[in-house]
Amino acid sequence: MRVLFIFLDGIGLGANDPDTNPFARAKMPNLNKLLDGRTLLKEAAPFHGEYATLLAVDPAVGVSGLPQSATGQAILMTGINIPAELGYHYGPKPNPDVAAYLKEATLFSRFAKEGKKAALLNAYPSRYFQGIDSGKRLYSSIPLSVVNAGLPLFKHDDLFTGRALSADFTGEGWRTMLGYLDAPVMDAPHAGRTLGTLAKEYDFALFEYWASDYAGHKQEMDNAIKLMETFDGVLGGLTEAWDDGLILVTSDHGNMEDLSTRKHTDAAVPALVIGDKGTRAEFVRGMKDLTHVAPAIWRTVMQ
Ligand SMILES: [Zn+2]
Repeated sequence: MRVLFIFLDGIGLGANDPDTNPFARAKMPNLNKLLDGRTLLKEAAPFHGEYATLLAVDPAVGVSGLPQSATGQAILMTGINIPAELGYHYGPKPNPDVAAYLKEATLFSRFAKEGKKAALLNAYPSRYFQGIDSGKRLYSSIPLSVVNAGLPLFKHDDLFTGRALSADFTGEGWRTMLGYLDAPVMDAPHAGRTLGTLAKEYDFALFEYWASDYAGHKQEMDNAIKLMETFDGVLGGLTEAWDDGLILVTSDHGNMEDLSTRKHTDAAVPALVIGDKGTRAEFVRGMKDLTHVAPAIWRTVMQ
């Protein structure tokens, strides 16, 4: 069965505190509908409903220190407890020791080997590739997994022809931050429908959203609320367009749910699973920490 994985960087399940947690303030009616009135707060998990399941998943995987992006994402890509093997959490970009895990063992490599169609649905601007080619920029763990699997990263033209999506969902950032004044812009529900339509072309599709972690480091409450309200609109359009397969929303570590600190947190991260009830129950069976996510995706796609 098809899986669409929406990766939200730096989202933990936090306290119901409107002073520190944007999830205590953001208006997210589509999420509330999926969770029977709940939202992404610590008190909401575990939840097994008609449309969705919400679990609290441990990103620390038994290793001391705050979880970081390179190792967290590498666990999500491989299911291997990399921090335990290395003895530390590491990030934001993978060092050679973390990168060594992202060759044959990732979901992208393994699906490619099995003849399954897999893709990362983000479009990257030309300057991203220039940065990589010049050595000024390192791949983060997720795109590195894609490239190592021999799969393409989507580019400018893929965004403009509708084969890939902007990292901010709507495309606004390509105009305001990257200077492409003719970039296609869509509202959040439209972006969600587009995401659903694109994902249907693959057995496993991933979309990576990093603005949430960035807003957490910057401690930007208003921006964080706006980002999550946009994400809620995406979720609305996506669930409308989605009829077959599972949607997984999860993260690598907490951050944005506690804006009293600009660091990552030790909070559990949400695993929000949307789709057929029986398939969801099987997907989340035994899911306690980040190492259990990749095997669940593998089982679901291969069944
Ligand atoms: Zn971070």
